[in-house]
Amino acid sequence: MAGVYIYSDRMDLAAELVGFVKENQNSAQVLCFTQAEADQLTSIGADKVCYLQGDSPLVENYGQAIAEYLKQANAELFVVGATARGRDLAARVAGYLDCAMVSDASSLSLESGKLRAERMMYGGAVVQSEEITGLCVVTVAAGKYQPVTGSASVETVQVTADNRVKLLETAPIVKEGVDLRQACNVVCVGLGLEKEEDLKIARDLAAAIDAELGCTRGVAEERHWLPVEQYIGISGAIIKPQLYISMGVSGQVQHVFGVRDAKVIVAIDSNEKAPIFRSADFGIVGDMYEIVPLLTQAIKG
Ligand SMILES: Cc1cc2nc3c(=O)[nH]c(=O)nc-3n(C[C@H](O)[C@H](O)[C@H](O)COP(=O)(O)OP(=O)(O)OC[C@H]3O[C@@H](n4cnc5c(N)ncnc54)[C@H](O)[C@@H]3O)c2cc1C
Repeated sequence: MAGVYIYSDRMDLAAELVGFVKENQNSAQVLCFTQAEADQLTSIGADKVCYLQGDSPLVENYGQAIAEYLKQANAELFVVGATARGRDLAARVAGYLDCAMVSDASSLSLESGKLRAERMMYGGAVVQSEEITGLCVVTVAAGKYQPVTGSASVETVQVTADNRVKLLETAPIVKEGVDLRQACNVVCVGLGLEKEEDLKIARDLAAAIDAELGCTRGVAEERHWLPVEQYIGISGAIIKPQLYISMGVSGQVQHVFGVRDAKVIVAIDSNEKAPIFRSADFGIVGDMYEIVPLLTQAIKG
């Protein structure tokens, strides 16, 4: 069956990808590799759930099987959820198909077999547009499309797994920081902060407005003053708070990419030409060591 084929190891993301296909009035077939996944996927609005049944529990072992299945099905497009495992699988499948691949598309449209995709390049400094005809593989991150609902039947197809990948051990990832993606308010410190002890003025402001503390990459990765989970930007957390207040953050594109969906952006920086002011709803030019304690005091009343 021609049309668009979808895979994600995250069920919620698979549902969003079906939403994209349905927005474009195409038929959506969702792939999965276990009966449990097949059962969950029947209600996300796909036209069909294709359960590729083999003797491996690991999706990593099905790259070649997927490529053969897509060829045989005359698929137009294979859309994969951009998770760590999804990206890995997408590259394998594109390799076996020897076809084009677009990584982490920020927007997609599909018209008469022609795919138009946009993706950020150079850390978000430019947007690249690509137009592709013929079967290709695309990865898409969560949060781009609205999920839909609807019921689908499951078709089970026997496939051969390539059992070279084996699971030896699993261990939980120990996360030290807070989950900034859920935060309603965020205070963000940048390299304008002189000493680690000075984090106190940011923490005091955060406490006054019930905010979580975030930072720029350098604060976490170079100075190690906050856990890496707490840095915001294209390679860190992408946040959507109601209020974001930056202190001593210059506002380079890689950072601003992570806060552009904040409802209100307030920037405090001593350099009036700092790029953060171009993204800010309210800007305060001055020394944060003077301004932030005054602001905290004023908020506390
Ligand atoms: C591929 C790539 C990916 C990246 N990903 C990310 C990312 O995800 N997140 C991220 O944050 N960065 C990322 N970066 C780094 C990014 O390019 C910037 O270098 C970084 O965001 C700058 O951090 P900053 O604003 O804290 O520091 P700076 O650019 O050094 O800015 C410090 C600011 O503090 C101000 N300042 C100094 N003293 C005071 C004072 N007393 N009061 C008020 N203001 C003061 C200065 O005027 C200045 O504007 C990435 C870079 C690359 C190349």
